[in-house]
Amino acid sequence: MTQHIQYPESGEKIRVVDGRMQVPDNPILGYVEGDGIGPDITRASMRIWDAAVEKAYGGKRKVHWAELYMGEKAAGLYDGDYFPAETQEALEDLIVSIKGPLTTPVGGGFRSLNVALRQKLDLYACVRPVRHYDGVPSPLQKPEEVDVVIFRENTEDVYAGLEYQSGTDENRKLAKFLREEMGATFFDDAGLGVKPISPFGSKRLVRKAIQYAIDNNRESVTLVHKGNIMKFTEGAFRSWGYEVAREEFGDVTITEDELYSTYGGKRPEGKIVIKDRIADIIFQLMLLRPNDFDVLATMNLNGDYLSDACAAEVGGIGIAPGANMSDNVAVFEATHGTAPKYANQDKVNPGSLLFSGVMMLEYIGWQEAADLIRAAYQKVVTSRIVTYDFARQIEGATEVKTSQFADAIIETM
Ligand code: NAD
Repeated sequence: MTQHIQYPESGEKIRVVDGRMQVPDNPILGYVEGDGIGPDITRASMRIWDAAVEKAYGGKRKVHWAELYMGEKAAGLYDGDYFPAETQEALEDLIVSIKGPLTTPVGGGFRSLNVALRQKLDLYACVRPVRHYDGVPSPLQKPEEVDVVIFRENTEDVYAGLEYQSGTDENRKLAKFLREEMGATFFDDAGLGVKPISPFGSKRLVRKAIQYAIDNNRESVTLVHKGNIMKFTEGAFRSWGYEVAREEFGDVTITEDELYSTYGGKRPEGKIVIKDRIADIIFQLMLLRPNDFDVLATMNLNGDYLSDACAAEVGGIGIAPGANMSDNVAVFEATHGTAPKYANQDKVNPGSLLFSGVMMLEYIGWQEAADLIRAAYQKVVTSRIVTYDFARQIEGATEVKTSQFADAIIETM
């Protein structure tokens, strides 16, 4: 029995059979409208997704939306509960959902709702495609060369929550153990954090990145790490990454060394090159030679920094899409926050959520609808019809509201 969530009767659930997703023509997809600017961008984006599906399939296919509740709207409905159990169950049950940004409740018992969501559903891969649309303001000279998909590990690393505050008993206990039993030296009263990186966590992330590269005809997967300094965590991530490529995808992958030693630098048709780069260098290379990169696999912290930096190269977080995924469940999401000062003004750029939905359509195999949106978006932006954030960077732009931007895209499709 659900309290507030109702699945539309006309839709059918997506299923996973033998590890493969089976998508009916009338799938029920979950959505969480989010807080702050969430309702504005969700409303606008849903109109666009629905119009694209209608246009692409002439009524043969249709998304049946089920509203799910998280954040402030949930707290209002469920007596202060920001992440109700039935929402978690529905996200798992429906397999594919999309969410707007959520306010982190102060003192709500969560470090962050998004972190809670990732942990509870074990959404271990954060997937962020980064590509440029002609006309979108960029600080690069050749932003069109940026076309990467970042797979960031979501559950381990210094974000795992193993932190011990300076001056506490736990901290003193750990410091004593490290000094006396492990011979470690560090300054008195240092706050301490633990950085767990496991073979299990590393391999499942790299496996997903390689599988994506195979499914999407990508040329390379780059393992990003700082293994020259942190050998047993970041260095181990690199080693386990190569191991999973060799052991599970040996027939379709070659290493960068083999590319030169065996193939004279020319990638054989159908092979994916597995390479690695040190984390600090990748920031430079993504600015100077973005063409060299395709799929990037990173640990949690590096990926957090790198994905926002890459997004800035192609228009910023207002347009960068993303998803969090486990083996089966996928939650697509806007990558920015709730921008409270713009809430309910019908003002902000719906791009991040819109393209997260485009990713979602691609994920369920509805490529034609996704392509329609991309093409229409390109035309509208080329004609310099944009929301305020881009308008102030584009000369001669026509600034429109969120809803008007959606109208323009739908009319152009
Ligand atoms: P934010 O991303 O909400 O906003 C920062 C600034 O970015 C805004 O003031 C605005 O100028 C710009 N911006 C963001 N989205 C935009 C859009 N769609 N179009 C145009 N401009 C846009 O970051 P913040 O102010 O640090 O965080 C506000 C709240 O959001 C906090 O409660 C935070 O915890 C939460 N948050 C949620 C998520 C999430 O749900 N995924 C992510 C980040 C922050």
